[in-house]
Amino acid sequence: MRKDSLAFLEKLLIAPSPSGYEQPAQRLFREYVAPYCQVSSDVMGNVYGFIPGQGKDRPRVMLVGHSDEIGLQIKYIDDKGFLYFAAIGGVDAHLTPGKVVHIHTAEGALPGVIGKRPIHLMDAKDRETVVKLEAQYIDIGARDKKEAQKLVRVGDCVTFDSSFIRLQGDLVASRGFDDKAGTFVVAEVLRLVSQEKKKMPLDLYGVSSVQEEIGLRGGTTSSYTVNPDIGICVEVDFATDQPDVERKHNGEVALGKGPILTRGANINHGLFELLYTTAQEDKIAVQLTANPRATGTDANVMQISRGGVATALVKLPLRYMHTPVEVVSLSDLEQAAKLIVAALKRMGDKNEFIPQ
Ligand SMILES: [Zn+2]
Repeated sequence: MRKDSLAFLEKLLIAPSPSGYEQPAQRLFREYVAPYCQVSSDVMGNVYGFIPGQGKDRPRVMLVGHSDEIGLQIKYIDDKGFLYFAAIGGVDAHLTPGKVVHIHTAEGALPGVIGKRPIHLMDAKDRETVVKLEAQYIDIGARDKKEAQKLVRVGDCVTFDSSFIRLQGDLVASRGFDDKAGTFVVAEVLRLVSQEKKKMPLDLYGVSSVQEEIGLRGGTTSSYTVNPDIGICVEVDFATDQPDVERKHNGEVALGKGPILTRGANINHGLFELLYTTAQEDKIAVQLTANPRATGTDANVMQISRGGVATALVKLPLRYMHTPVEVVSLSDLEQAAKLIVAALKRMGDKNEFIPQ
């Protein structure tokens, strides 16, 4: 991967951005895409990169990846200064005890640890059950409630301590690949399109959306704002090449075998075929997954925005979704950006995706 792209990806992943608190990541997105497109932001916190194309009656095309990640939020500080919290998005209570966290306060990040009763002091029965998130607590080392309250306010968001780790080959682990991998691909497409000699036969909007993990909220409003004819959502998808995931659940999906194209009611048939044919013609490996329902992604709200949008999903294989050690292959991200740019060149007619 290009050095500057990798440096941006790493910074984006480290930036704290639980749903509703995304601006540290959004600021990086704005800064990175600014040389390549016209940048704007809205009251929700969504960021838009716009590249006008050429041609009469050209379609409006929207790409979207969400910058928000799962996290925690401080709800209550007890008399001894321990902090109780709620999940922002789908946080697995199995994972939290014993973790180092960062509380994002008005004064900056404050370290803490999620406490846990020692195994020696647990009943046999308790060893086999999960401690509910409501019963878990963060220890910041404060002497009492008063001291904790000076440092932390109810409502502050919390992220897990995790660094960007290179594994073997081109695999990398970090928290937040869901879906900063998608936001990254959107940014890379804006960069690549801006460097094309010929203008695209379409107006391109690359959106870094917010609040996806808590109900596709930024995707809803940004789709309304852009009012696209065609939309591509870039999201992560379950890899099934880890030992404890059943292939029958999400088909045969492996890291490093290219982006995933999903099929089903949420996907416009014509747009899927365009992406699939593009991949074949340009020799970009893709994997297929099937989802007969409305997907749990921004592609869902984009498709049913206003009078309907021709929508597709380009997904990135990911192991260990919603853990602080999500794993992707860097080449899948690069190939996804390449596929989208190649497909954009083949889009010029907004009516070609109306099913006949
Ligand atoms: Zn996601």
